[in-house]
Amino acid sequence: MTGRRRVLGMGLAALASPLVATSGRAQQLPRTANLDWVFRSDAGAQEFVPGYNKQFWRVPERRALCGDADAVSAAIVWARDSDTNFALRSGGHCFMGFSQHDNLVIDTRRIDSIRYDPASGDVHVGAGVRIGPLYRALAEHGRVLTGGTFGNVGIAGLTLGGGFGYRTRRDGLTIDQLRSVDLVLADGRQVRADTRNHPDLFWACRGGGGGQFAIATGFTFRTAPAGPEHWIRIVEVMDIRRAAETLFLWQRWTNQSPRHITTQMQIARRGASGFLVALSGLSGGDRGGLMQELTALLRRSEVLNDAYVVSGDSAALARQMNPGESVPKTDLLTHSHMFNRPMEGDEVKELIRVILAHPSSAADINIEAMGGAMADVAPGATAFPHRDAIFTIHLQAAIAEPGELVPKSAAIEALNAVLTPMATGGVYVNYPDLSLADYGRAYWGDNLGRLQAIKRKWDPGNMFDHAQSVARA
Ligand SMILES: Cc1cc2nc3c(=O)[nH]c(=O)nc-3n(C[C@H](O)[C@H](O)[C@H](O)COP(=O)(O)OP(=O)(O)OC[C@H]3O[C@@H](n4cnc5c(N)ncnc54)[C@H](O)[C@@H]3O)c2cc1C
Repeated sequence: MTGRRRVLGMGLAALASPLVATSGRAQQLPRTANLDWVFRSDAGAQEFVPGYNKQFWRVPERRALCGDADAVSAAIVWARDSDTNFALRSGGHCFMGFSQHDNLVIDTRRIDSIRYDPASGDVHVGAGVRIGPLYRALAEHGRVLTGGTFGNVGIAGLTLGGGFGYRTRRDGLTIDQLRSVDLVLADGRQVRADTRNHPDLFWACRGGGGGQFAIATGFTFRTAPAGPEHWIRIVEVMDIRRAAETLFLWQRWTNQSPRHITTQMQIARRGASGFLVALSGLSGGDRGGLMQELTALLRRSEVLNDAYVVSGDSAALARQMNPGESVPKTDLLTHSHMFNRPMEGDEVKELIRVILAHPSSAADINIEAMGGAMADVAPGATAFPHRDAIFTIHLQAAIAEPGELVPKSAAIEALNAVLTPMATGGVYVNYPDLSLADYGRAYWGDNLGRLQAIKRKWDPGNMFDHAQSVARA
């Protein structure tokens, strides 16, 4: 553990970095072996900025590139003593840019070690690790971890908000595998939180969201053995009748399907009256049974084949399927909703009608299965309250050209309006939405009061602050 006294002494062990400007201002900053400062005026400053939503990109006046927990301690103490507001950044995939800032970004992307312990089956993961490389590293040991579906997403943001993906119905959320989290507190102290040490902080770090209570530098997860799996990827262009039927059937089927199956459905309008419907997911059960389930679900006359379902060992599939790791460079509009019941037939028809009322490709609809093992945990057992959700619907519209803003905004707002009365009112904190009137209730439900008390205890000066922090709710 590092006390403040030691942190302040770190300047004595200063190491110069080629990235660090040599201005007078810069010399007042702490220097430690694994801390590099990147200034706005530096030639390479731009390269650290890109995140998932271009709308929020900012080149901060200074970025603390931290390679270990001591560097993070030094950066936060400097931020406190100089009264500098800041954002925390790991994988950069926050939809609302909470990891971007004009003044200071404390950046943990370089804390990127992955250490698997064969004796316990646990893996210790640095906060800067992205999930694609993590899945592939675990695959080398024949292990898997339940988590998100997009390889470029950072483990830090994903875990602190909850973390669901293609194994959720089987294994639960990423936080349900979390044994401990290593944190740097607002005063620079380093602690490990788990069920015995600082259990309130540990509770808050499982669903409370990133950038709220402390800076995570590492996570320890239990992993599961890799086994036989079936990777589902079915993409079909459908007419309106079949698209509506497929959506209606899928959302009724998903929560009754065996737990070893987790799927997601994407629907987007393509062409004058066509729909592109993609079903993707993972199953750990028997292949014949899965083929029958999918054939019935999709009302196919012939049984699906290898073109749609690839079978193999889950470790080999993790290497082969290699979740996408590119960062788009567009502005993004987004809303999302939790559902704890399937939509009725009329509701599905209304949704399809609204999609059809707007131009082709105006907005994509991602419907992501939940339920199963995720629902085995009580809503108050971790800070993630949406344990009864059976799926979430995530709307996204990418604005590549300025001319797209008006039609795509109209499309996504119309979809949002039609879904709002059907859904629970809950929203996944990792799908943040700046338009929410009461984000505190939407993200944390009945857990909000406890989170606010934990926030007051561990961050009394409200150092960790962003547009939708627990303190502002
Ligand atoms: C393309 C895409 C696909 C996605 N797919 C999934 C999915 O399948 N499942 C799922 O559950 N979620 C998914 N998400 C949501 C994702 O979990 C969140 O966007 C997550 O917050 C990203 O984490 P990050 O580290 O990449 O992002 P960042 O933008 O770096 O951080 C996210 C938040 O955490 C804070 N933070 C960053 N680093 C730290 C730290 N070290 N300590 C404390 N706080 C920190 C930031 O300030 C910010 O508030 C997806 C997002 C995108 C863009």
